Amino acid sequence: MIRATDAEGWRARDLEVLWHPCTQMREHPDTLPLIPVAGGEGAWLLGRDGRRYLDAVSSWWTNLFGHAEPRIGAAIAAQARNLEQVILAGFSHAPAVELAEQLLAIAPREAGRAPLAKVFYADNGSAGVEVALKMAFHWFRNRGEDQRTKFVALANGYHGETLGALAVGDVPLYRRVYAPLLAECLFAPSPDAYLAEPGQSPEDCARRAAEALDALLQAHAGEVCAFILEPLVQCAGGMRMHHPLYLRLARDLCDAHGVMMIADEIAVGFGRTGTLFACEQAPAGGIQPDLLCLSKGLTGGFLPLAAALATQSIYEGFLDDSRERAFLHSHSYTGNPLACAAALAALSIFGSDDVLARNRATAARMAALAAPLGSHRHVADLRQTGMIVAFELARDGKRATPFDPGSRVGLRAYRAGLDRGVVLRPLGDILYWMPPYCIDDAQLELLATVTAEVIDEATACA
Ligand code: PMP
Repeated sequence: MIRATDAEGWRARDLEVLWHPCTQMREHPDTLPLIPVAGGEGAWLLGRDGRRYLDAVSSWWTNLFGHAEPRIGAAIAAQARNLEQVILAGFSHAPAVELAEQLLAIAPREAGRAPLAKVFYADNGSAGVEVALKMAFHWFRNRGEDQRTKFVALANGYHGETLGALAVGDVPLYRRVYAPLLAECLFAPSPDAYLAEPGQSPEDCARRAAEALDALLQAHAGEVCAFILEPLVQCAGGMRMHHPLYLRLARDLCDAHGVMMIADEIAVGFGRTGTLFACEQAPAGGIQPDLLCLSKGLTGGFLPLAAALATQSIYEGFLDDSRERAFLHSHSYTGNPLACAAALAALSIFGSDDVLARNRATAARMAALAAPLGSHRHVADLRQTGMIVAFELARDGKRATPFDPGSRVGLRAYRAGLDRGVVLRPLGDILYWMPPYCIDDAQLELLATVTAEVIDEATACA
């Protein structure tokens, strides 16, 4: 039972002092609702307006096991009574060590390749990406390969908003205005299966994109230090999905061209795609990147933390008498003990609750509930990878005819979802389900019913 409190008062106080992320503030609160939240409970957010909202986007893809999950909360509280923070240069603490041990033990592994062997912590996803990019660049410099200054990334990829991460991202809405400030990056075509020409399979898209990557690396032989991608799903780019074959082909191409492979599993890691890590789904036993970026679900969605996992060979490339050849990158809160304790608690839930098996069952249920929506006249594509389902809305249900951006179909859908107590925060005109893993059957049915209504309502007048 939630009691309506002073939502209006909190909204007014908020707008007096806060500048919100990813928001044109002018749209608040009339065009874009602002929902003061008092608490969370499982897959629900409890609004100060007395209503509850189903968090179908896992609070920006961070939450794994539900809000206020008691085991993670208890682990953070226990750690806070003992040690809340300590400088990680020159000092060490058990949660950081234990978490690194466990992450290395579960990280993707490929036969015949030396495993990921070292963990470098940062404190948010973008910072984790910066770490990986800087490591790749600096490693080659330490070897005297000074001409390897460029990164290769995928069209429509997203890796965060800081200037380094933004440089390797290709979502124009976030990138365009800052383009003059960004490091040089070459973009290879995305293997996105949505871009298939008639008669092409997702594998064909993967092969075609890999050929283009090969040509790009060939054309810039000796100039590229790393290739970065989001394995299986380009999330912020619209939940665009590709065939796992691409991971294998890209891994082989990185080896052939002597380029490091950075897998950004910040959004797709920790069971979201059906396996613990998306890289595991590549053919022939999965692939192992040279650098793996993790964040978001790492702490179960409780606290900001990121980790860049690196091979022993990368680590050894920085061992030297000179401090300049060391990797000096540092954040005050690197490896924060509270965040590491949260991450350890989250990992132990994977062990105790058979999370991956439950996710497979939930994903099958999501597929069954989403299927009828696939034939809606405004749904141009329905796609799914594990516990991510996306509905690409288009004017006449065909891929080539998106809605006029001015009609703000996605925003209409978002508002219609909130009216019905469901958070369906769109990416443009793409709606998606990416719920906490604890979502139950009744909640999934509500999600499906509301999604159908919302698509009808949002597209009716567009
Ligand atoms: N990489 C990917 C794949 C992401 O989805 C995100 C966040 N949406 C980031 C990096 C950046 O993470 P953060 O927002 O914590 O900086």
